[in-house]
Amino acid sequence: MELNLVEIFSSIQGEGPDVGRRTLFVRLGGCDLRCNWCDTPHTWLPAKRARLERTAGQGDFEEAANPFTVERALSASAPLLAAVPHEFVSLTGGEPLLQPEACAALAAEFRALGSEIHLETHGLHATALRQVLPHIDIVSMDWKLASDVRRESEPKGAVAEPFDVGHAAFLEVAREAPRCVVKLVVTLRTTDAEVDAARDAVAKLHPDASVVLQPVTPFARVTERPSAERMLALHARLRESLDDVRVIPQTHPVWGVR
Ligand code: SF4
Repeated sequence: MELNLVEIFSSIQGEGPDVGRRTLFVRLGGCDLRCNWCDTPHTWLPAKRARLERTAGQGDFEEAANPFTVERALSASAPLLAAVPHEFVSLTGGEPLLQPEACAALAAEFRALGSEIHLETHGLHATALRQVLPHIDIVSMDWKLASDVRRESEPKGAVAEPFDVGHAAFLEVAREAPRCVVKLVVTLRTTDAEVDAARDAVAKLHPDASVVLQPVTPFARVTERPSAERMLALHARLRESLDDVRVIPQTHPVWGVR
């Protein structure tokens, strides 16, 4: 089975409730959204070549041509997994669920090696998730806010249609996973109304989900992050109907790792 691979490397989880855990990242190519704050725009299109870390956590990469096979991805990962215990393998992107067969095969193989499988997804491809879900331990889905995210098919500068219907359909599948994290990236454009809509949908569909409010990390066109006061006000807003709500900024920029 073939897949488009961007990179494989060993690091620590830099965001969400499992921040700090040793994680092998397997990043797949291609994405059908365009988040204004995206910090991996090189993944939007399938990659011609993949980067493979040679030594766990040392950032020394070799390159290899795409397409990859699941077997090649596993053998490229083997020395990294052997060098140091990893608690998670993160299937990320891009949008990994654009390649559901490959995702399912990778997840099954990595899980057999003893790691928990973390799926990092924009949270809009429910049918693909259904295919992958039996092999996943943690679904970490975004709840995209249309104030700062558009579909690839929508023109730049247009006001995007909200993503709530697609996210609700996705969450109805994701709630069958052992753990589910719903992440909202908050920018200066985030409105109370769109946060309320996300809160009400999560409270109705999966009130036990962990919800993460992540202040945007300035990158590319985004130069400012929301204030601490704004984040605390949104936290209080979500806590009106959800139990597990956390404000967790990305940690990688703080100490300069990927
Ligand atoms: S969904 Fe992820 S990879 Fe795609 S544009 Fe948004 S942040 Fe970037």
